[in-house]
Amino acid sequence: MNMLLDDLKFIEMTSQKLQRLIFEKGSKKRCALIIGHKESSPGAVSPSDESEFAYNSGLAAEIKKLTKTEVVIVHRRTYKELPADVNQANPDFAISLHCNAFNKKASGSEVLFYNGSAKGKALAQKLQTAIVKVLGLPDRGVKGKASEDRGGYLLRYVKAPVALIEPFFIDNPADYMVGAEKKAELAEAIAHVIDLESV
Ligand SMILES: [Zn+2]
Repeated sequence: MNMLLDDLKFIEMTSQKLQRLIFEKGSKKRCALIIGHKESSPGAVSPSDESEFAYNSGLAAEIKKLTKTEVVIVHRRTYKELPADVNQANPDFAISLHCNAFNKKASGSEVLFYNGSAKGKALAQKLQTAIVKVLGLPDRGVKGKASEDRGGYLLRYVKAPVALIEPFFIDNPADYMVGAEKKAELAEAIAHVIDLESV
């Protein structure tokens, strides 16, 4: 079954068909969805003052509703403890939800993975393809990170394949507008990749 699915263009598979497949096969896979940042340290903010934490808390809840895969939402206590907290949930794969921020002008989507992980890279590529397709922002590609890079500590020490998404620049008004307006479609696209990983 996996060989067959690998040959299919995953994005073209309808959610319905995928979810039926998962239902029939009785997927036992578990996905950890990691919310970037926390209430007391909410990350970068949009021009309207929505933080990464606020945006991604909502996004995670929507994704969880849409996917047929078991999803565990992991919140950050501290940066240091986060990989162990994710590992404790014992996921088959994990996705960390962030937004990019730079100079209010940079634009586009990117997904990070740990340099040494082929499975992490494959997951990152599927997410990147799905995100670019749904948001239509510039494709900045997938980026391999070392443990000392920003975001790299999590990517390095989570045992399961893990990818960190930055679908848009939250400090860029035009990017943020796309991210806000297409939030439901973004959740659907991510849920679709999660279900694809589970069959
Ligand atoms: Zn962030």
